[in-house]
Amino acid sequence: MVPTSPGQSSQSTVAWVWGTDDGRLPEKIAKGSIVGLLEDRTILVTGVLTDQSIAFHIARLAQEQGAEVILTSFGRTMSLTKRSASRLERPAPIVELDVTDDSHLAALTEQVGQHCDRIDGVVHSIGFAPESALGGNFLATSWPDVATAMQISAYSLASLSVACRPMMQPGSSIVGLDFDASVAWPTYDWMGVAKAALESTARYLARDLGPEGIRVNLVAAGPIRTMAAKSIPGFGEFEQVWKDRAPLGWDLADPEPAARACVALLSPWFPATTGEIVHVDGGVHSQGA
Ligand code: NAD
Repeated sequence: MVPTSPGQSSQSTVAWVWGTDDGRLPEKIAKGSIVGLLEDRTILVTGVLTDQSIAFHIARLAQEQGAEVILTSFGRTMSLTKRSASRLERPAPIVELDVTDDSHLAALTEQVGQHCDRIDGVVHSIGFAPESALGGNFLATSWPDVATAMQISAYSLASLSVACRPMMQPGSSIVGLDFDASVAWPTYDWMGVAKAALESTARYLARDLGPEGIRVNLVAAGPIRTMAAKSIPGFGEFEQVWKDRAPLGWDLADPEPAARACVALLSPWFPATTGEIVHVDGGVHSQGA
């Protein structure tokens, strides 16, 4: 029997499962001495700002599941990231990465290489749009502002993946954070367009990195009260939509369900899934009204 939850042990061995180059899970897991979903994995986590950040909870759960975690931050946000990192159970080094800075992307593997020799998982938890690109100004937003939103929120999934690629092996996983872009939302505007681009980017990356054994997936989360969410005027409107339509209900103050899905996708337990969008939204995407 395969252990079904972290910490649960089983004496018997697994005959054949996906998970490493030769299609078998690491020996420790197969023998039932599993201690965590991400045991022996190094995960690079972008996007930890506050302890409400979705990425903070991914980093926290990844450590809990046995991973070594390396964070990224940049410029003035570095001090906030440091403060949040100090709330993690174990120390996590922070490397500098502004995804709009080519020199940071070029130096990423060298920086990360000071802490580990490979990257098994990458979390893209990055989003930004200038004020004019959000809040109902859709018809008047200038191209430079749209371009900024697209570069930081969508193109960066590709530039980050390409930057990390030299340190990634077959079995590695890239996970990004999405907000369902299959429909138009109130106030979300060009950020919604950027999310549509993110979804498409993930599919093309899945195509091009799949032959190297690297998976690329997104988690489409429901609304969560984070710094990024606070910068969206009219974010409260989402609150009502989720209150009215989530069959499972939805807690805007709880980033953990989305973070758990990310950890699962980073783990060997989704070995044949790529180019996928996993909705973690209380079921809202599945309901017509
Ligand atoms: P957050 O504000 O905590 O995180 C956003 C992160 O993006 C910050 O850490 C910020 O430093 C980083 N960032 C911005 N510009 C950057 C740049 N140039 N280079 C590198 N990093 C940069 O908010 P969050 O809600 O945790 O957002 C994380 C991701 O989750 C985003 O992609 C967001 O769109 C997505 N998401 C959020 C919600 C929500 O309701 N909060 C729902 C679905 C998806």
